[in-house]
Amino acid sequence: MTLAAMKLIASENPLLAIQALQNPLEMEIKNWYIEHGQMSGDHRFRVLGGFADSKYQGPLDPVKSVNKIEQQVYLRDSYKCKYCANSVLSAQTLKQIEEALGSENFAVSANSNNSRHGFIYTVRATVDHVTPHNRGGLTSMDNLVTACWSCNYGKGGYSLKEIALDDPR
Ligand SMILES: [Zn+2]
Repeated sequence: MTLAAMKLIASENPLLAIQALQNPLEMEIKNWYIEHGQMSGDHRFRVLGGFADSKYQGPLDPVKSVNKIEQQVYLRDSYKCKYCANSVLSAQTLKQIEEALGSENFAVSANSNNSRHGFIYTVRATVDHVTPHNRGGLTSMDNLVTACWSCNYGKGGYSLKEIALDDPR
């Protein structure tokens, strides 16, 4: 069950949504994310190390924050991670679900990995700079794509070429 479907259920039958959230997979997903998802970029760096051309010295886009165009990026990409094609939800939508169901049933705003609900980790949308910002990538629609947390962490500061990824655009 995707969270998009759950959002519908939450608005019509919150009890059903709460039951669906009490799923043993929740802890499994959370543990996977804490151990692998968020660490994938670090693991990759440990194996691959840096790259010669990663010492970028050129100009940087003065705007790094994607806040202003985040929603446009998600809409253009139909709320799907452009790397793994999983459906994702914006932080605002997740927050609305939390408000509808109660933070004791669906903790989104908690400030540690362990206290958030595990399902968040598979669906929370982020915006990725395809060419990393610190390597001259622009904060523009052309250089931004929707990414789930795990794909974004996994890509880290590498270019597509360095980790043999197809261009997601
Ligand atoms: Zn992904």
